[in-house]
Parts: sequence; structure tokens; C-alpha cells
Amino acid sequence: MKVLKFGGTSVGSPENMRAVMNIITAEKEPKVVVLSAMSGTTNSLVDISSCLYKGDKEAAKSLIEELKLKYTKVVTELFSSEEYKGKGQDVICRHFDLLKEQTEGDFSEIKEQIILAQGELISTALFTYLLQENKIKTALLPSLDFMRIDEEKQADLKKIKELIKPVLAQAGDQDIFIAQGYICRNANGDIDNLQRGGSDYTATLLGAAINAEEVEIWTDIDGIHNNDPRFVEKTKRIENLLFVEAAELAYFGAKILHPLTILPAKDANIPVRLKNTMNPEGEGTLISNDKTIAGLKAVAAKDGITAIRIRSDRMLMAYGFLRTVFQIFEKYKTSIDMITTSEVAISLSIDNNKNIERIVSEIKEIGDVEVDNDYTIVCVVGDMIAGEKVFSKQVFNALEGIPVRMISYGGSRYNISILIKSEFKKATLQKLNKLFV
Ligand code: ASP
Ligand code: MG
Repeated sequence: MKVLKFGGTSVGSPENMRAVMNIITAEKEPKVVVLSAMSGTTNSLVDISSCLYKGDKEAAKSLIEELKLKYTKVVTELFSSEEYKGKGQDVICRHFDLLKEQTEGDFSEIKEQIILAQGELISTALFTYLLQENKIKTALLPSLDFMRIDEEKQADLKKIKELIKPVLAQAGDQDIFIAQGYICRNANGDIDNLQRGGSDYTATLLGAAINAEEVEIWTDIDGIHNNDPRFVEKTKRIENLLFVEAAELAYFGAKILHPLTILPAKDANIPVRLKNTMNPEGEGTLISNDKTIAGLKAVAAKDGITAIRIRSDRMLMAYGFLRTVFQIFEKYKTSIDMITTSEVAISLSIDNNKNIERIVSEIKEIGDVEVDNDYTIVCVVGDMIAGEKVFSKQVFNALEGIPVRMISYGGSRYNISILIKSEFKKATLQKLNKLFV
């Protein structure tokens, strides 16, 4: 069985929902379809919760009414028959009554979680009715019955595997199973979620739980591109990526996948294909553990990086110095992204400046510190040392004319990271793009 996930834009209007219906019924094989909330909904639900945290019940209620109006319109356009328009209206009334109930009395985290869950609950209920109106054999798999996170709020795949079995057995023989993305229950059994953008993660967790043959993530772009189209013309779709390469790109802001998404698929060796709902014929990008072509595949960039250089004569021929430095960062829960060292100095980069003053004052006790803001990490991804070929030379040659603050090469064979002032980002991405053509 395949798992197909459709994001907020893919189910963002009655027209798009019908496009999704056509895509999932094009092939006969049974499949699980994971849906996000309609686009904009989770944002509105977050706004409603923040009003309630501030005690502004009236503002929350008017946001709820506004959202309800939007959904009432969706229902009238989505269904053809009076029967299903009625069923759709019942869904809306039920969920919006529940939303209004959360505005009564004191607000709490539990109420917040109930509010945040409504987007996916509504989109899947309406979509199930749409399929039924079109005589498609379908059943809803309620994600709150099997998606679980543990005490540490990490996905609990073992539990999910266990819980999904009876749910699937009860759903019986169907062509399409529908499940909510994003929502789950926590270790206390309360409603919770997999964090914003978490529906992708639902899809790969579910894929791993049922040992799916493939997970497809349907969005509104043709897969992962090899560069950032906002800065570079003629970017190209990447056909194949390794999971390790996709993980590097996801961290560096190639904002296509929720960064945790690939882990369950990688571990269970289930290929993940990224597809475009607006262009279903397109091949998209396939992420897998299979060996793919050697060479450079993509660049991505992450802004807002701080560069720190620590110099100390104490480092000369001594051991344990790095440990002392790292402990200071650990103490302030600040993760280090890049690091290079010489005999008497260390350069490193962080993307979270929150505790920088306290960190610097502690480091000053062991050496001199320089801190510079407004840096960008540019990350080049691909198999750098495939066979006889070594691609680092091409990367370094392409960087001619760019003042580079740090280079990290060899940490993984799939990545070279380059730290530059953010003002050189566009030029760097453009120069590196020449490597792909
Ligand atoms: N609806 C949730 C969000 O907007 C989850 C998702 O779309 O993946 O973050
Ligand atoms: Mg999304």
C-alpha cells in the first residue's frame, strides 16, 4: 500500500479537493491518504488560541465566526447534492460548536490542543464525504486513535504500529483510507500535535507503521529544486536524492519537508516521492536509500548565522580545550552548526543568538572572542567523493571572488558548508549554480 499526503494548498479549495480526488482515484490500488488542514486554517486556530490566552474572548469568538463563514461557503461549493450539502453543514456545525465551547471558562493547554486539531478533523471529514458522494469506497482512520508521541514528545513508532492494526482491521476492505495529518495523542492520552508542518511526518510515520511501498508528499511545487529560485534563474528539479542528502537540505531551509519527516522512511527504507498536485504528470523528486548519480546535486542557504572565533594560547598542544568550549554552549542550550579549528583558534557558527552575551562572557575567561553577525551558511549537497572523482575542487573554484569566512568539508561525504557574509549570498548561489548546468 502507498501513503499519499496532501498539504494545505492541495486541499485549500473545493476545486483543489476535487483535483486530489482525481489523483487518488487514477490508479486502482488501495492507499492511505493523509490530509492537512485547508490552507490558512491552522494559522487562524493559532490566532484564536492566542486571543484566549490573553483573555480576549470576544476577539476569539469573532475569529471563529469568520472561519465558520469561510467553511460554510466551502461546503456549498464542494458538494453537488442536497444530501451531502446537509452532511457537510453538520460537520461544520459540530466542529465550530466545539470551538466555541473552548472559549468558555478558563483557558488551558488542553483546550488549545483541541482547538488546533480542528483543522485536520474538518478537512478529512469533508473530504471523506466528497469521496462518498462520488461513490468511492472509503473509510476514515481517526489519527487520534493511533498517532502517539511519548513523554519526551517524540513520535512513538512502536505504539503507532501496535495501534494502527485494529483500526485498519475495523475499517475493512476499502479503496481509500483517509487519515488526519499533524494531530496525535500524547503519553497522557490528551490531544497533541507533531508541530507545525507535521502532516508530512504523519505520512512517513504511518508509512513505516504499515510498511508502505512508498510515501508520496503532494505539495504545490515540482519536487525539490537544486537552488533557490528567489535568487537564481533556471533552477532545476532534482530527480533523485539520498535520504542523507535530503536531510542536509531540509535543515538548510529547503522548506519542502518538515526536517524530521525523512527519518522514519529512511529507517524503514521506504522511498519518499515529492509530487505536485497542480502538475500530477510531473515526476517530482524521489528520495531513497538507493545509490544515485555521483556529483553535486543542490545548494541551499540558511541566514541569520552568527560566527564566533575563539583564540587562546592555552590551546597550544593541550587537550580538553574543545570540551571546555563546548560545555559552555551546552550549558546555554545553544547548538553549534559549523566548526573549524587551527592549533590556537576555533571558529564556529550558531543560529540562535539568545544567550550569546552570557556565552561570550564565559568564553572570555579562557581566551579572546570575536563575534560577527549577519552570516549565511551555504550548503552544497551531493556525493562529493564518488569513485575516483572528487568534487571539492569544482566548488572551491566556483567560489572565486567570494570572501569565505569558514569552510567545512569532510564532516559528511555528502556536504560542503561555506560560511559567508549574507550580502554575498546571492552571488554565491549564482556562482555555484554554474556547477549544475
Ligand atoms: N495544519 C498544520 C500546519 O499548518 C500541519 C500541516 O499542514 O502539516 O502546520
Ligand atoms: Mg504544510
